[in-house]
Amino acid sequence: MYTDSHAHLTSEQVIDQIDPILARALEASVTKVVNICTDAQTLRQGLKLKKRYPWIYNTAATTPHDVEAEGESFFPLVEQAVADRELVALGETGLDYFYEHSNRALQKRFLLKYFDLALSAQLPLIFHCRDAFSDLFAFADVDYKDAPGLLHCFTGTVEEARGVLDRGWYLSLSGIVTFKKSEALREVAKFVPLDRLLIETDTPYLAPQSHRGMLNEPSFIIETAACLAAVLGKSVQEVAEATSLNAEKFFSFSKLI
Ligand SMILES: [Zn+2]
Repeated sequence: MYTDSHAHLTSEQVIDQIDPILARALEASVTKVVNICTDAQTLRQGLKLKKRYPWIYNTAATTPHDVEAEGESFFPLVEQAVADRELVALGETGLDYFYEHSNRALQKRFLLKYFDLALSAQLPLIFHCRDAFSDLFAFADVDYKDAPGLLHCFTGTVEEARGVLDRGWYLSLSGIVTFKKSEALREVAKFVPLDRLLIETDTPYLAPQSHRGMLNEPSFIIETAACLAAVLGKSVQEVAEATSLNAEKFFSFSKLI
C-alpha cells in the first residue's frame, strides 16, 4: 500500500478527470493521497473531494511563487480551514530562489507567517525549497526550531539532505529520481535513512521516466517506489510500507477523525 505524500489533485489540469484518476490510484494500491491546495479554488475543491474520498487528506498554503499575487488573500482561508480542523498539514510554503516569481523578502514574510500558524495550530509544515537551503535553515533555526517539517520534491545535494535530517525533518522524493540523468539524486536516496523518506508524485507535474511529459497521477508512484527499491537494494513492498509509515507519523492522518 502506497501513500502519495504530495499531489495537486484539485489543480485545473486534472480535476476534470479526478474520478478515473483516483480509481486507478486504488487499483495500484495507492490508499492515501495528500492533496496540496494552493489557492481558494483548489482548497474549496479539496474540501469537497475529501467528502467523496475520505482517503484524500488536504493541506493548504500559498506557494512561494504566488505569495505576491495571492499570499494575503488566501491566508485567512487557510486559517479558517485550520480552525475547522480540515487540514493534516500546512504547505507547501518555503523559498524558491531559482524562479524567484515573488521577491525574496515577501517569500520570507509568508514563510514566517506559516511558521507561526503551524506552531499555533500544531500542524506540521511541508516545505518547497529551491536554491535557498541556507536561508530556509537559518530562518527555521530562529522561528521554527525543533518543529516538524517535510522537504517535498527534494532535488538538493547530500549536504542539503543532511541539513534537512539534522533538523529532524523528513524528505520526500518525486518521479525526478527515476529520470535517467538523476544519478546524483539517487545517491542522495542512498544517504537518507529509510525511516525518514517519503515518496510523492507532485501530480500533475513531474511524471516518472516511463510517462515523462504526460500528466502525472498518483498511480504512477509505483515507478518511483520501484526505482528506490532497486537503488536501496530493498523490495518494493519494503519501500512502500516504510514510506507509508513515515507519512503516517508525519501527518497523523487519524487526527482529523
Ligand atoms: Zn507541489
